[in-house]
Formats: sequence, C-alpha cells, structure tokens
Amino acid sequence: MTIPALAEKIAGVLQVISLPARLAILLAIGRGEACVCHLETLLGWRQAYISQHLMALRKAEILQDRREGRYVYYRLRDEAILALVRDAATLSGLAPQSVDALTNPKPGPACECPHCAPQFISLSQD
Ligand SMILES: [Zn+2]
Repeated sequence: MTIPALAEKIAGVLQVISLPARLAILLAIGRGEACVCHLETLLGWRQAYISQHLMALRKAEILQDRREGRYVYYRLRDEAILALVRDAATLSGLAPQSVDALTNPKPGPACECPHCAPQFISLSQD
C-alpha cells in the first residue's frame, strides 16, 4: 500500500466521525448501547436528525445495531474509536477526564427506554 492510499483509507474514518453531531452520538453511546429515543432525550435533538447520523455511522461500520422488540439499539463496533475521540479531545486542550465523565451518561427520568427504565419491560410482560 502506498502512503497516499493509506492516507485515503484513514481519512475515510476521520471524515465520517468529524461532524460534531456524530462525535456527540459516539460519546452518548460510549461503551454501552442506546436506542434513538434515548439519544433524543440525552442530546436534545430531533429523532430524524439523529437517525440520519446513525445511518451514516452504521454505513461506515462504526456502529452496529440490533433489534429488540420495538427498539433498535446501537453500539460501537470497535470501542477503539473512543480512544481516538479521547486523544482528539486532549489535542483540543480538553482534559481527558471531562470526556470520560460525559461518555455514556444516563439521560434521567425523561427517558423511558428499557435501559433507563427497566420497570417498563417488567410491567409490559406481566
Ligand atoms: Zn434511555
């Protein structure tokens, strides 16, 4: 492989994740997994907007998804991407701890997805 070919390949990943909205989604998912409504609650953006970025990240094989009932959960295909984001944060002058603290937080009581409100599953199965 030539250096230009190598650079082209690397640029592909960096381009896909370079939009702030996509970096936000990667941080919101972190080492866990999240459904669209979860991300909607956490990030405060419209579902259509989030879905559009989820689609691009999945197409680039950065995210993988799985369906469970009426929810589709997204997770990172390789968590190494978080190390890349963490390094980029450090290069931006941010403390790595601030990235860690904001990675995969719980949105709180407003989110009714089964991950945040497990009682919703048990109630519906009764
Ligand atoms: Zn949730």
